[in-house]
Amino acid sequence: MGRLFIESLSGPRIFKCKCCKVDSASRDHVVSKDFQGRYGRAYLFRSVVNVCLGPTEERVLVSGLHTVNDIYCSSCQQILGWRYEKAYEESQKYKEGMYILEKERMLKVGW
Ligand SMILES: [Zn+2]
Repeated sequence: MGRLFIESLSGPRIFKCKCCKVDSASRDHVVSKDFQGRYGRAYLFRSVVNVCLGPTEERVLVSGLHTVNDIYCSSCQQILGWRYEKAYEESQKYKEGMYILEKERMLKVGW
């Protein structure tokens, strides 16, 4: 078995992978809590940790066409959400390089 590097986040309020409980993101990096994921509500983050990127693909989302990568927990490989690689509409450009994490797949710790 290979050694896996797991990054730990500091701060009082952390989102963890619900499946394996490694840190995924900090409350400080939430940009919006009002997004729609595959499984219901989702949060938009400026940065996340301990994730692997899936292949780049074009996807039509509620807010139009985007180029995205699915993101997986690097510890348990569970799908957690996606990353916005490129947005085509001017009003959506701010999301480029940001991450969606599904609320359903997250464990909130310290709230
Ligand atoms: Zn996990």
